[in-house]
Amino acid sequence: MTEHLFNKILIANRGEIAVRVMRTAKALGIRTVAIYSDADASALHVQQADEAIALGGVTAAESYLDMHKVLDAARATGAEAIHPGYGFLSENAAFARACEDAGIAFIGPSAAAIEAMGDKASAKALLADSGVPLVPGYHGDEQSDERLSTEAERIGYPLLLKASAGGGGKGMRIVLSAATLHDDIAAARREARSAFGDDRLLIEKYLIRPRHVEVQVFMDSFGNGVYLFERDCSVQRRHQKVIEEAPAPGMTAALRQRMGEAALAVAQRIQYRGAGTVEFLLDANHEFFFMEMNTRLQVEHPVTEMITGVDLVYWQLRVAAGKGLPQDVSQQSLPINGHAIEVRLYAEDPDNHFLPAIGRLNLWQAPELSASVRLDSGVQQGDDVSPYYDPMLAKLIAHGRDRTEALHNLRTALAALQVDGVKTNRDFLLRLLSLEAFANAELSTDFIERNQHELT
Ligand code: ADP
Repeated sequence: MTEHLFNKILIANRGEIAVRVMRTAKALGIRTVAIYSDADASALHVQQADEAIALGGVTAAESYLDMHKVLDAARATGAEAIHPGYGFLSENAAFARACEDAGIAFIGPSAAAIEAMGDKASAKALLADSGVPLVPGYHGDEQSDERLSTEAERIGYPLLLKASAGGGGKGMRIVLSAATLHDDIAAARREARSAFGDDRLLIEKYLIRPRHVEVQVFMDSFGNGVYLFERDCSVQRRHQKVIEEAPAPGMTAALRQRMGEAALAVAQRIQYRGAGTVEFLLDANHEFFFMEMNTRLQVEHPVTEMITGVDLVYWQLRVAAGKGLPQDVSQQSLPINGHAIEVRLYAEDPDNHFLPAIGRLNLWQAPELSASVRLDSGVQQGDDVSPYYDPMLAKLIAHGRDRTEALHNLRTALAALQVDGVKTNRDFLLRLLSLEAFANAELSTDFIERNQHELT
């Protein structure tokens, strides 16, 4: 990792992902520029950067989402490239285009690739004749009540209404029968309009107890691509991931290859560049269905890094600098070493429906870290956790020679992590990790609901 890629990059994000990107940049001798809102003036990502630019404002819209301010900061500091992290501007095609126009490398795919996958309905339409299996449903342009009802009858119940422009689990509604369809469509449209300013819906068959299994892909600008295997992200609350692991338990080599190749086919279809994730639902018969592609680095990328030994941010930086995949990399040469599990530590109140919690972190003490225990944190003791941004504080990831050992290491590390002053989901995570059903890898997206009685 010593070759020259960039002199200086700007990280257009905050929290743990900004810190994580800086770690690799520093190891490569690349100078880092942080940006920050008024609420983040003393945040860890600001302290760890070589330079920091105040954007002003406190809300995301006034700061991290304001692409003009971000581009001005990059110009003012002479940053040659911008890493968008996840969230914020990371899947904003206009921003990717504005970077290119300004002569600044966007560390991510082309604006066209972001656009192609940015809308769930058009992404599915694009793949209709690609051989990649889609969740059965309707993703057409015609949006009249009549048409949606006809399609709903054809697809059958239960079904799922999703916002085409959706993300983050927002704007989804399960419809159990035709009796409520009309009202559900109206409600889903309202939700979609207020969350995304776009009320187009798509309909999917609601699969019963599927698993969420996603494939990490990576492509350079020369058409070379590999898949870095899969992650199981079935343990979710409100369709949001809570625990992720790699590899997915119970995979066969044949299924892994089929899913990996399907994911790469999706990436190739849009001439993808960089790190991307293709999300599938997997049913009990080992049938899998494409849901969507995320055109950025994912929150849960560390579990993949731990089992493959690849630094995905390093690869991202290489590709953004116009280089190919590292020379010794091929699909055949990529290993799966052992098992890794990640938990997301959120500032949220378990006694109040897990709503985001705020306050001062009077105590924040990391467990002992090692080659098998990694903490990607965006906070430090004494920080004020504000209500303005995503409430995720940190991710704790543990590796083991097998799943049992990884789980043991994670439980031990999580129990040793000390936090006080702000309510978190730490104890809830510990209970989750202690469930026999988790030890037995009885995974499906309703895992938390199904085990609710043992979690409270
Ligand atoms: P978002 O982009 O808002 O996160 P996704 O389309 O990625 O939404 O879906 C989020 C989660 O919702 C999935 O991981 C899965 O748990 C559930 N889900 C999505 N589509 C279906 C479906 N057709 N059947 C059953 N569950 C689904």
